[in-house]
Amino acid sequence: MSDLTVACLCGSLQLRVSAAPLAGFYCHCADCGAAHGAAYVGVALYPSAAVEVVAGKAATFTLRSLPRAFCPNCGTRLFARVPDSDLTGIVAERLPAGAFRPDFHIHCREAIAPVRDALPHYEALPPAFGGEDRTVDW
Ligand SMILES: [Zn+2]
Ligand SMILES: [Zn+2]
Repeated sequence: MSDLTVACLCGSLQLRVSAAPLAGFYCHCADCGAAHGAAYVGVALYPSAAVEVVAGKAATFTLRSLPRAFCPNCGTRLFARVPDSDLTGIVAERLPAGAFRPDFHIHCREAIAPVRDALPHYEALPPAFGGEDRTVDW
């Protein structure tokens, strides 16, 4: 695939993404909800080595455990390096149109409201990410 450029709303913080996503999901955890001021957040997961900051300098904000990188100029939350892993999540809303392909929903147990679609709705994490194969009844 060709590289993607992902930028904050003002354009001063830019990422170059040089690999295909490992997974795409909607996270309903309370941490994402509070940090983003949203009911749930779309995230595309990439190998960290494939996500490089090529313009600007990210600031980070940690609510509980995940340092969320944002643009200090416009405040856009853009990505997060998952601690103790080689994974980086990019906020799906900032990906180029068509680049986000969600595979499932996670942390549905903490959801504010059901989101009914044809994707699997895991209570917490799916087995591929160390969770159990338990879904909620949406
Ligand atoms: Zn910005
Ligand atoms: Zn979350």
